[in-house]
Amino acid sequence: MTISITPKTKKVHVYYTTSPNAGALQWLEQSQTSGKQKPFLFTQSQAILARTWVPCMDGPGVRFTYTATIRTRPDLAAVMSAAGNSGTKTADGVYKFEMKQPIPSYLLALGVGDLEFRPLGHRGGVYAEPNVVEKAAYEFVDLEKMISAAEELYGPYRWERYDLLVLPPSFPFGGMENPRLTFATPTVLAGDRSLVALVAHELAHSWSGNLVTNATWDDFWLNEGFTVYFEQRIMEKLYGREHSEMLATLALKDLKETIEELGATSPDTHLKLNLKGRDPDDGMNDVAYNKGYFFLRLCEETFGREEWDGFLKEYFNENAFKPMTTELFLKHLNTYFKDTSKKESLHINAWVYAAGIPDNCPQPQSSEFEKVSAKIEAMKNGTPAVQLQTQGWTTHHWLYFIRNLPDSLKLEKLIEIDYAFYFTRSGNQEILCEWFQRCIKAKYETANGPMRNYLMNVGRRKLIKPIYTELAKTPEGKAWAKEVYTKARPGYHSVSYNTIDDILK
Ligand SMILES: [Zn+2]
Repeated sequence: MTISITPKTKKVHVYYTTSPNAGALQWLEQSQTSGKQKPFLFTQSQAILARTWVPCMDGPGVRFTYTATIRTRPDLAAVMSAAGNSGTKTADGVYKFEMKQPIPSYLLALGVGDLEFRPLGHRGGVYAEPNVVEKAAYEFVDLEKMISAAEELYGPYRWERYDLLVLPPSFPFGGMENPRLTFATPTVLAGDRSLVALVAHELAHSWSGNLVTNATWDDFWLNEGFTVYFEQRIMEKLYGREHSEMLATLALKDLKETIEELGATSPDTHLKLNLKGRDPDDGMNDVAYNKGYFFLRLCEETFGREEWDGFLKEYFNENAFKPMTTELFLKHLNTYFKDTSKKESLHINAWVYAAGIPDNCPQPQSSEFEKVSAKIEAMKNGTPAVQLQTQGWTTHHWLYFIRNLPDSLKLEKLIEIDYAFYFTRSGNQEILCEWFQRCIKAKYETANGPMRNYLMNVGRRKLIKPIYTELAKTPEGKAWAKEVYTKARPGYHSVSYNTIDDILK
């Protein structure tokens, strides 16, 4: 859209209507919500979907402030990534918002539904449907501790409030760091607070991403790599090094799998991407997150934690509310640190401008996972699954366990494991996602019913993509997947169905 202005023009009014099928918007029927009583609407603007619901300069290098008035049915509440979320429904269904801090368009966000609020400390809380809100408040009880830990690490929280909105299960991402109001998937509500790293991640974005923002989507790792690094530091501060090393071990495995999938020489495995002519969403994978994390961890280990933290604190402070390119970041790094031999030992070019995982990648050490490996070994040597000592295992132990089962596992053994640990009946969607991939490989048909249910109900891309991918490897699997997908697709957000359409085409 081009608007001609004269030197005298001070204001431009744009009158517009958005279309009901705008890519950012997901309109849910009441049957697609948790409560099944009232409809729901949410937006997902990242990466370049803000333009589908609001005319704007839709690139991450441009920032704006905004005000908004939302009118809705009085039995629904509206919340936005702005000041004005009140925690109570208004009598007339009118809500007013103002975002005073300048944000890039991808952080513009709106949610409307049957929402209730529970405070968690003096500057944070959680919004969710009435039948989910208590569970969410239980899960996120450490929120204020996380905010304080983050502030101790890298300086003050600059957005006043930090609230969470738990969405219906079709939300395509784990979380979205909309400022003042993180959007979160209900798949983190495991009931045992084991998946709250996601909250640490979205909170960390309040610095990396929302304050210092990737100037273009080619610099996406500046948002995500920094945020995974920061998330790990928060998790370590709250729950100890052993816990954060479990997360890092799983991250390294994810990264290796992604690189294998993309190809060892693929330019999509560089930290600095080249997305020219593509939808940025297609080039975003966990390289930006996990390769980015391991590069920053290498910096920490090379320069020493204290000096590295000093650098990061200054970096966030000096560049707050500004766009950042990869090259400018490297310039800051080069100016701050003086020791040339340490800088050379990083092999920056291999990390940033070349493919794969460089040889000097840090190796996480998890003694907890060593114990899990020992149990798998014992099982290989004949110990029945039901006799394995697994007391105190968390989601991460189980994920590691399932992922490291031998590839050649026979169907009988899989059934024995299922009888011992009831994975097929698990309520934990991360565990189900790993488990179903195993079931598909071993042709364990008992899992088909629960898997169908899962695919009909969960819309988080990360948790459905691997299952459709595994199914698509055989003609029978693909036929079954297509049949389920025809029914499941209307419940998915465009971010998810665009990915799955490609897998099943
Ligand atoms: Zn993120």
